[in-house]
Amino acid sequence: MPSSNAPSIVLIRRDLRLGDNPALTEAIKRGGPVILLYIRETDDPDAGALGAAQRWWLHHSLTRHMKACESRGNLIILRTGSQNEIVQKIAKETGATAIFWNRRYHLKGRETDADLKRWAKDHGLEAKSFAANLLHEPSKLLTGAGGPYRVYTPFWKAFSATESFGEPLPPPSKIRAPERLPESEILDDWKLLPTKPNWAGSFMDAWIPGEQGAKVALIFFLEEAMRGYRTQRDFPGSKTTSRLSPHLALGEISPLQIWHAVEEAEKGYPTEDTIHFRKELVWREFSWHLLFHYPDLANKEFNPRFADFGWSHDERAFRAWTRGITGYPIVDAGMRELWQTGWMHNRVRMIAASFLIKDLMIDWRYGEQWFRDTLVDADPASNAASWQWVAGSGADAAPYFRIFNPVLQGEKFDPKGDYIRRYVPEIEGLGNEAIHKPFEASKALLDKAEIRLGFTYPKPMVDHGVARDRALRAYDAVKGNT
Ligand code: FAD
Repeated sequence: MPSSNAPSIVLIRRDLRLGDNPALTEAIKRGGPVILLYIRETDDPDAGALGAAQRWWLHHSLTRHMKACESRGNLIILRTGSQNEIVQKIAKETGATAIFWNRRYHLKGRETDADLKRWAKDHGLEAKSFAANLLHEPSKLLTGAGGPYRVYTPFWKAFSATESFGEPLPPPSKIRAPERLPESEILDDWKLLPTKPNWAGSFMDAWIPGEQGAKVALIFFLEEAMRGYRTQRDFPGSKTTSRLSPHLALGEISPLQIWHAVEEAEKGYPTEDTIHFRKELVWREFSWHLLFHYPDLANKEFNPRFADFGWSHDERAFRAWTRGITGYPIVDAGMRELWQTGWMHNRVRMIAASFLIKDLMIDWRYGEQWFRDTLVDADPASNAASWQWVAGSGADAAPYFRIFNPVLQGEKFDPKGDYIRRYVPEIEGLGNEAIHKPFEASKALLDKAEIRLGFTYPKPMVDHGVARDRALRAYDAVKGNT
């Protein structure tokens, strides 16, 4: 048994929570003091280089997590640099005899953690990792042939058949601190918040970052929006989805906590809404499954047929898309929702992504990077898998010929134009018929709504019909590739 005064180190990464945190629970169980360590990793492109919107979220989430730990008797130590160098140094300085962490699944992170485990073993330290951030272990859930799943439905079936989940762990009431804490950096010095300009000024109206905020979002969803989820989830005009994604992305809530809460709400009677919601959660699992087995998912076409696709990059067109001035209201509303709140409704993500890839023929990687920088829920797996899904190059992807018509999509999923009016106020005066296609409105209608196309709101940057034909021709050219 370790001496009760030998500290354990707990690495905090994308798991900013006290509840359902097996690494933390294990360290506390061990009986000695606990060193809580958050490292801004400079040698890991995923862990270290968060996008700008997620840096905003991280600042607030960490601030709250630090307070929650302080109220339980301990402080989080902040450091910048290489994870393993820092951990090894702190372990030597403090005489720590154990290191615990919750597992991460991107390649670089896995390699770094495996190195740390080896170092700990060589130096007589206990090192233990835990499954906590996914419901399944990507290395264990495999097809009959022993390989990874490449198609969602069989993955879902295997997942549903094989997984059984325990109860989430309760949060600790006390975390014993060492008598002398290692030195810490100061969070404000990390300058995670934007200043000039402060483009995140309106984010706080939309979100409550942190573990408490995640709980509030979950309760709100279960009580107010779960019923009707299956049919309503595609309509961006009202809050019909859980908005849990940014909380999940930084691990303020675990998927097991969500899964369990849904089970409790079902009381033994799953509904089509709860089943559909679970399936969406499992899309997150599937995305991580893919990234685990195909680490290059964000850079390279999953389907090699698309490797030499003839993208035509046009910087002006890309900028117009990012700023939400394409002239297609549903696309513009989505891109502005993203800018104003750091988030975009799933249906609109699909429409906006399809517009970039298929109407503008811009490489999906540009879109993936823009989303990574501007989404508060940026997730290396879900983002890459979803962009490839829309492009047609991904696993189980939308077929290449499926090209969203932004006008029809708007009419179908925002029939009263509520969503568009919220984010594209310069055309709010148009009636429901015209709001999805101001470029077809009569001069009289435009005058009445005080719109001057090309001045107060842009003309469409491409003709969708022409763009569609161009995309289909380009896709036809790669169709035969192997
Ligand atoms: P809900 O409908 O309430 O779903 C619950 C949870 O299930 C979500 O929080 C999320 O964790 C998961 N989920 C739902 N749909 C998907 C999906 N299609 N793929 C993977 N997981 C899903 N999601 C991210 O979390 N991060 C991203 O960076 C991201 N990038 C995307 C990029 C594109 C181009 C597209 C089309 C989708 C992307 N998604 C991403 C998936 C999806 O849009 C979001 O997960 C969803 O909109 C989050 O809102 P919610 O929490 O209200 O979802």
